[in-house]
Amino acid sequence: MTETDDVLTLRALWAGSSKVLGAANEARWICEVATALDGADFDAALDEPVTERMVRHHDEMVARYRAGEPLQYVLGRWGFRRLDLAVDARVLIPRPETELVVEAVLDLVAGRSSRRVADLGTGSGAIGLALADELPIDGTEVWITDVDDAALDVARANLAGIGRAARNVRVASGDWLGALPTDVPFDVIVSNPPYVAVDSALLDPSVRDWEPTGALFAGADGLDDYRRIVPDALDRLTPDGSLVLEIGTDQGAAVRALCLDAGYRTVEVRPDLAGHDRIVVAGR
Ligand code: GLN
Repeated sequence: MTETDDVLTLRALWAGSSKVLGAANEARWICEVATALDGADFDAALDEPVTERMVRHHDEMVARYRAGEPLQYVLGRWGFRRLDLAVDARVLIPRPETELVVEAVLDLVAGRSSRRVADLGTGSGAIGLALADELPIDGTEVWITDVDDAALDVARANLAGIGRAARNVRVASGDWLGALPTDVPFDVIVSNPPYVAVDSALLDPSVRDWEPTGALFAGADGLDDYRRIVPDALDRLTPDGSLVLEIGTDQGAAVRALCLDAGYRTVEVRPDLAGHDRIVVAGR
């Protein structure tokens, strides 16, 4: 696919991978990462030569993608809200439905003069860092936590990429509520915990094969982590604080019941863009 004697242009590199993959968009993303060019810069450079190093990187990504690895891990980056996050097999791939979880938190704290929020089990940092990025610089404190130190390394790398808002972020290692300080209340505690039943037939085989087990599975019914987070979060919230959870599409009724049993006064189950139950908002 690549020529070593002649000068290879970016256009030819892209045409080659488009043909091999049968997918021009995926090929373009791979070429963009290989050349560190995107958008208009990529288009403007189509007739420029690519370096040998770029070609090697490109060929390696094409081979990994053809072997079945998710494109997001192959690229090592993926977009989430306004952020371009580093992602690899240490963390779950950020998903579009999780962008709605961020939206739900933004709505809850809109209009407040200050806000302290925590994203438990942050993984790549997606939810917490998007919140830090989109909330006002003044009066915002965002805690991002994970029990998995390898995941926290990814989150820290992404924290370094969010600019000025990084000063509002605290990183803490630990198990669910155990990672947070006990002497400060939170306006919102948010989490996208593992929620897949261990023998779930609904899980995409590529997710099972490539994404980190510890971020996916939560016991026989997928509810094990909610059973810990829901009761433990209640008295860590401000009096008008809320718990926001991403849930599996068949877990709305079960998670609602867990919240009511724990003593939350309001519980709302909201759909994702496909119309499936996806988010629980429980008010203290
Ligand atoms: N949404 C993921 C999936 O079903 C699971 C994420 C999670 O367990 N938090 O593929």
